[in-house]
Formats: sequence, C-alpha cells, structure tokens
Amino acid sequence: MIKKIDHIGVAVKKIEDALPVYTDGIGLALERVTEVGSEGVKVAFVPAGETLIELLEPTGPSTAVAGFLEKRGEGLHHICFEVDDIDATIADLKGKGVPLLSNEARQGADGRIVFIHPKAGHGVLIELLEKPR
Ligand code: ZN
Repeated sequence: MIKKIDHIGVAVKKIEDALPVYTDGIGLALERVTEVGSEGVKVAFVPAGETLIELLEPTGPSTAVAGFLEKRGEGLHHICFEVDDIDATIADLKGKGVPLLSNEARQGADGRIVFIHPKAGHGVLIELLEKPR
C-alpha cells in the first residue's frame, strides 16, 4: 500500500531565506517553486534522491502553515508517504479508526492527498499522496 516516503515538508517563513542551506550548503538543486492556492502555500521542491524536501511558505496570515509557524515556529511540518490508491487507503484507515483531517482526498500540488491527524502521529502530521498515473 505504501510505496515510499515521497517528501518531507518543512514550514518556513521565507523560502528564499531557508533554501540556501539545502542548495549552497548541502548541494541539492531546487527543482521548482509552485503555489497551491487551495492550501495557501508557496512550495519549493528540492529533490534528495527519491525523496523531496518540500519547503512551505504561507501566502497569507490566515493559512494553515501561518498558524503552524505561529504556534510551533519553523521546522518539520509533515512526512508524506506515497500510496497506490488513496481512496482505498482512506477507507482502510477509517475502518481502523485512524482520525483524518478530512473525510476525502483533495487535490494537492502533486496529486490527491489526505492528512492523518497529528495527534494520531504523536505530533507528526502524516500526509498520504496518490500521484496521477
Ligand atoms: Zn506535503
């Protein structure tokens, strides 16, 4: 069901301030920067082998990532696992009583996504992603 860790999300105040440690510092390359209007974030993707580092910058004060920064400061925001079939995964998790942040998958930057409640992840927000085939 789980294929791999697709990306690790890091909440930052400004992508341009956070990016250099990954590029100039440890020598990774910026792949692209995109905005996900529905989530209120600007996202920079930095591949590290098969896994991406995803820098998340809020686009406004009343967004989820802005709220995260206010409460917890910059740092690890979520871990994303790629799954084969997100609808089947959601049904399976509901059957096991795992709390989700939404009832169904929604469109993210790279495919259909759902989040497991961070309480269930003991402080780690877990994202599940089905990429378009
Ligand atoms: Zn993500």
